Amino acid sequence: MTPGELAEARVAELGIRDPKDIDVEAISYDAGVLVSYAPLAGCEATLVGVGSQAIATIRHSGVRGRERFSICHELGHWELHRGTSFRCRVDDPSFNLETNATVEREADEFASNLLMPSRLFNPALNEFQWPDLAQIYDLARTFGTSQAATLIRLAKVDSLPAIVACYSREKYLWHISTPHVPRRWWLKGVLDPDTFAYDLLTRDIDSSVPRKQSADAWFQNDDADEFELLEQCYTPAPGRVMVILYLSDSEMCDRGFDPDVRWRR
Ligand SMILES: [Zn+2]
Repeated sequence: MTPGELAEARVAELGIRDPKDIDVEAISYDAGVLVSYAPLAGCEATLVGVGSQAIATIRHSGVRGRERFSICHELGHWELHRGTSFRCRVDDPSFNLETNATVEREADEFASNLLMPSRLFNPALNEFQWPDLAQIYDLARTFGTSQAATLIRLAKVDSLPAIVACYSREKYLWHISTPHVPRRWWLKGVLDPDTFAYDLLTRDIDSSVPRKQSADAWFQNDDADEFELLEQCYTPAPGRVMVILYLSDSEMCDRGFDPDVRWRR
């Protein structure tokens, strides 16, 4: 079972049918993990276990979505990596996407699926055709999650042809695309000045609803200029931009292998 499947199985065992019933403290307690809050320095959460009991200590941040994610992340460590103590520096899965820390990503996957199980998340997401940032924020409130965690989940459930990518002013940082987006579409290594994301990062021009954009602004492929997509973005932290691209033209999903992008990798 993958970490995500394990988390979804836990939600199913508990008979949870409504996101508001995902009581993360109670689920943790049931698994032998007592949750406490403390003003931690230098990390967001810790996990210390002895025998069949553990204590997860969470830095009280006042941002409930992040605290909930931290609790489920520590529970993920307990279920997946028992026998080790953890000091976790982040309370948002987008940060771990910039690293290759496998155990951290596994705990994040467990947390994402526990908080947003596909059986509940997919129907809520499918109420929108191309969700804008306000609608994604509504989803985040429904599931008690952060906006970034919700976006990353959106890019993993394969309900929409979407790419979620993060750039700094200098370069590409990471991206996730839903499974049926062809891997042939190769993102540019730096932000193109024609993108709305560039306008947001350099001139603070808001772009919080999906707008048409030439695919050429985003992809290195020579045939990208044949297509349009939908782009929206926001700044999760100073100097960072998070962009959501919807491949609204179904021909982009049907386009075959592009031999010319191989050498660029
Ligand atoms: Zn961790």
